[in-house]
Amino acid sequence: MLNSDLATRRNDAIARGVGMATSVYAKKALNAELWDVEGKRYIDFASGIAVVNTGHSHPKIVDAVVKQAELFSHTCAQVVPYESYISLAERLNALLPGDFEKKTVFLSTGAEAVENAVKIAKAHTKRSGVIAFSGGFHGRTQYAMALTGKVQPYKGAFGPMVPDVFHVPFPVACHGVSVDASLAVLHSLFRSSIGPDRVAAIIIEPVQGEGGFNIVPSELMRALREICDTHGIVLIADEVQTGFARTGKMFAMEHFDVCADLTTMAKGLGGGYPISAVGGRAEIMDAPAAGGLGGTFGGSPIGLAAAHAVLDVIDDEDLCARGERLGQKLEGFLRDLKSDCPQIQETRRLGFMVAAEFADPSTGEPRADLVAAIRQDALNQGLILLGCGVYGNVIRFLAPLTIPDDHFDEALTILSDVMKRVMT
Ligand code: PMP
Repeated sequence: MLNSDLATRRNDAIARGVGMATSVYAKKALNAELWDVEGKRYIDFASGIAVVNTGHSHPKIVDAVVKQAELFSHTCAQVVPYESYISLAERLNALLPGDFEKKTVFLSTGAEAVENAVKIAKAHTKRSGVIAFSGGFHGRTQYAMALTGKVQPYKGAFGPMVPDVFHVPFPVACHGVSVDASLAVLHSLFRSSIGPDRVAAIIIEPVQGEGGFNIVPSELMRALREICDTHGIVLIADEVQTGFARTGKMFAMEHFDVCADLTTMAKGLGGGYPISAVGGRAEIMDAPAAGGLGGTFGGSPIGLAAAHAVLDVIDDEDLCARGERLGQKLEGFLRDLKSDCPQIQETRRLGFMVAAEFADPSTGEPRADLVAAIRQDALNQGLILLGCGVYGNVIRFLAPLTIPDDHFDEALTILSDVMKRVMT
C-alpha cells in the first residue's frame, strides 16, 4: 500500500473539513516510533496531539485494555454501572489540585468535557456568560467552538456563535500583550458587555496548546482567581492538552499557587483510548440534577481501564520527573541552535511542553513558511513535528514522556540538521 494511493482515496471519500498534519498513513507504532504503510520509520514528536504521553501501545495499557475487552466493553455507565468508573473518579479527585472535596464525571472527548464544564458552571451559578481567551482552543462542538479564540479555520464558516461568550486577549509578551492589558480588557468587558454578576465561568488553558504553547503568567492566574472569588464566578482550567505529566506535573495548574474550581481532562488521560472528564469542587459538580450529565459512551469501560493503567505508568516510571528532564534537555538544545538560527524568536517551556516561535529577526514578522518547511523536511528525514500558534509560526514538541534516550537523541540530531538546512 502506498501513501499516495491512500491520499487519492482519502480525497474521494473523506470530507475536506478534516485537516491533515502529515501526508503519511500509520501502520503501527510503539512508544515513540511509528511506521507508515510503506514501512518507513518515524520518531513521533506529535504523540497524536499530546495523547500518548505514555508512548504508543505501552504494554501495561494494552494489557489493561485487552483484559477489559474480554470482560465487557459496554453496558453504559448510566444503565449498569461498574466499579472502575468510581475508582478512577476517586483517583482523579485525589490528584486534582485543591484541598477541597471533589467529584468527577466522565465523557469521551475534550470538547465534550469543555461543554460539560460550562453546563455545570451555568447550573451552579444560574448565569449564562462565559469568558475565554483569544488564541485559546477548546474544541469544535458548538459551545467549545464559540469559546475557541481563533476564527480560521475553526469558526469562520459556522456562525452565528452561541451568545454570551466573550474573549479577552491572552497575555503573550513577545506579541506585546501584557497581563495589565489583558486585565484592562476584562474589566472593560464587565462595564461594556456583561456585568460580572451574569458571568458563570472564566475558562483558561494554563498553557495554550493550539494557540502556541503560551504559558499563563502567574500574576494573571492569581488575578483571575481573585476576580472569580469576588464575583462568584467558576474558574475552569482546560487541562485537555496540559494534563497528565506533560508539563512535569500531573496537572499544569500545580505550577500555580491558586486552584481552579473545575478542570477539564482528556487526551493523555486515556493514553490513546477515548475518555475525558470534568472534575472539581463537589458542590459545583453536584449542581446539575440526575440526567443532566452523561452520555452513552461517557466513561467507557475500555477508556477507564486504559486511564487506570496510564496513571499507574506515570507513577511507576516517574514520568513527571522524566518530562522535566527531557524538557530541560530540549530547551537547552533549542537555545544552542538559536545562534545559528536567528529566526527562532523565542523558545517556551513548561516541563516537556516545549515550543519554538519563528519570526523574521529584523522585522518581527511571523514566519509560518519556515514552520511548514521545517515540518516537511523533518518528515522526510523521519521525524514527525506539529505546528501551532495563532500565526502558525510555532513548532510544538510533544514526544512521548517515555521516549528512550537514544531515540530522543536521534530526533535532536535530525532536528538540528533540518533547522540548519531550512534556515540557512
Ligand atoms: N481543549 C484543549 C486545550 C485542546 O487542546 C483540545 C484539543 N486540541 C480540546 C479542548 C478539544 O479536544 P477534542 O479534540 O478531544 O475534542
